[in-house]
Amino acid sequence: MICIVGASLAGDTAAATLRAQGYTGRIVLIGDEAEPPYDRPPLSKEALEGDSADQRIFLRAQSWYSEQDIELRLGHAVSAIDRAARRLTLADGATLAYDKLLLATGARARMPGGADATSLPVFRVRTLADTVALRAALQPGARVAIIGAGVIGLEVAATATRRGCAVDVIDLAGRVMARVLPPALSAYMADLHRAHGVRLHLDAGSVAFASVDGQHGVATARHGFIGADVVVVGIGVVPNAGLAELAGLDCQDGVVVDEFCRTSDPDIFAAGDVARYPCPFEQRLVRSENWRHAQDHAVAAARNMVGQPQSYGAVPSMWSDQYDVKLQTCGWLRDSGEIVRGEAGSAKFMMLYRDDAGLVVGALGINQAKDMRFAQKLIEKRIAVDPALLADPKQDLRKLAQ
Ligand SMILES: Cc1cc2nc3c(=O)[nH]c(=O)nc-3n(C[C@H](O)[C@H](O)[C@H](O)COP(=O)(O)OP(=O)(O)OC[C@H]3O[C@@H](n4cnc5c(N)ncnc54)[C@H](O)[C@@H]3O)c2cc1C
Repeated sequence: MICIVGASLAGDTAAATLRAQGYTGRIVLIGDEAEPPYDRPPLSKEALEGDSADQRIFLRAQSWYSEQDIELRLGHAVSAIDRAARRLTLADGATLAYDKLLLATGARARMPGGADATSLPVFRVRTLADTVALRAALQPGARVAIIGAGVIGLEVAATATRRGCAVDVIDLAGRVMARVLPPALSAYMADLHRAHGVRLHLDAGSVAFASVDGQHGVATARHGFIGADVVVVGIGVVPNAGLAELAGLDCQDGVVVDEFCRTSDPDIFAAGDVARYPCPFEQRLVRSENWRHAQDHAVAAARNMVGQPQSYGAVPSMWSDQYDVKLQTCGWLRDSGEIVRGEAGSAKFMMLYRDDAGLVVGALGINQAKDMRFAQKLIEKRIAVDPALLADPKQDLRKLAQ
């Protein structure tokens, strides 16, 4: 019997993979949210913009789970793992035995100090419930202060702008999406937001909830007081590793796993946002917080759980949709050695990044969905290509990646 804790992308993918690999034993997929597994990327995009996407975000038809004989236990948190007895305890006191266990507990949104004390409505965007609540608050004309100019903060800024809100984005960093983009691309995304009327308050010095003359908002050291009707927080996530820590598993800002997704207990595996895994390219433990990784890592975990060894070492990749820009990255974006394919700064171009040996190790695409697939292949296969050919958009990247 296999138990999976966390009924979201990684947990759901692992359950499906177990069945696809011919596992015929009992599978129980346990999630603390009330809804069946759903996709999170639309939560800051289509589903925040309008309620028509709400029904489309579910990963499967409800009937699929019974057809596959996968038991869904929704609205149940797992509160403890008894490793010696190989038994889970749920928050309501029920217990479940397991032979193998997968932790796919993901991450939760980090909240700043003072969020509980302010009389302003403060939102995060991690669950469908968060999105439904925020959507109701994003009324035309509402003043929305977003703390955090990362991927989620900027996606919310784009969506709120589309809904007719007046948007201020505040960050301690001096540039937007600083964790994922090189400086020139931060400037590109910042210009995009400014062109849509978003006010960016970067390098803010300090950020705190405040009230001035009866008005509520956010006080910054460098940009003063910013009045708001609604605050949205997008300052990163914290891995849901408490259950693993309590059970004495090796954890370091996430549950530590080996290349086969095994934790320090050979019967317990972890995958997705919660797992810290050895990256063969960086030769260190990393934690990835993106969709493709959660899916691929879960596939590898499931295979390893049923004795089909698969070492995991995917090239990381992510995407973000803001206004009419689809931004995608894969691999490692360095501060130098980049090759521009197309016209940098235009509505459609690609940057390719090389290591000291001249091999492509990273790529960034603006509205380049098709070519990004081949860029990823170039990185995975470690193919050396003449930079002049890479820079020429007339050269077929698919062929160069063969
Ligand atoms: C708003 C938003 C937009 C995003 N957009 C993009 C994007 O554009 N591109 C991209 O690449 N990635 C995006 N991501 C990231 C991507 O969605 C995540 O990487 C992915 O959801 C991770 O999947 P997961 O299954 O590992 O974890 P999660 O999706 O976090 O799921 C973990 C589940 O486990 C549950 N759980 C936790 N503890 C317990 C417990 N003790 N008992 C039972 N259940 C428990 C949680 O409640 C949750 O349901 C976005 C994420 C968010 C929040």
